[in-house]
Amino acid sequence: MTDLENRIAQFRKMASDDPDNELGHYRLGQLLMENKQFDQAVESFKRTLELSPQFSKVFQLLGKTLLESGKKEEAATVLKKGWGVADERGDKLPRDEMGKMLVEMGESLPESKRPAQTAAPAGGGGFPCKRPGCQQGSSARKLPAPPFKDEFGSKVFENICADCWTDWLRNYSIKVINEMRLDLSTERGQAEYDRHMLEFLGLEN
Ligand SMILES: [Zn+2]
Repeated sequence: MTDLENRIAQFRKMASDDPDNELGHYRLGQLLMENKQFDQAVESFKRTLELSPQFSKVFQLLGKTLLESGKKEEAATVLKKGWGVADERGDKLPRDEMGKMLVEMGESLPESKRPAQTAAPAGGGGFPCKRPGCQQGSSARKLPAPPFKDEFGSKVFENICADCWTDWLRNYSIKVINEMRLDLSTERGQAEYDRHMLEFLGLEN
């Protein structure tokens, strides 16, 4: 088995052991896509969206995968819906990527449902959480303080809402450690853990 196939097997197990874990389905979809198993990747992304319908980046990947497997019409439908979700949530990057794909396909962009932007950001809105799939919307709150004293801590503080951070700590970090059988005392285990954390939080770059 190649390394990629190994990781696919790992995540397939994670997704079937814990079928309501959006993270498992999402990563499985990405790996299947990388391995050009497009039909299976489509299934994983669809499942992710059932669990987390606001996860705008998944629409982008699902649209791309559908295009790769020649399902242009379905791709357009998915991308238009995803564009709307991303636009409403203010997920600028996935929205623009999906917009670009739609234009390349010769499709028109859906109408934006957002109120016209004023020059200054409107006050009173929620904290602009960057986590893909954040469900908090306008009720998102900033963490009271950075969770760590280093650069990563301030990155989380500036970009991630309090609920998403708690969700990572209480739920997903434990899942990742258990299901991936990570040994955090090793450098490899720690690196793998960090990678999952950055992916979950949408802070890869
Ligand atoms: Zn959030």
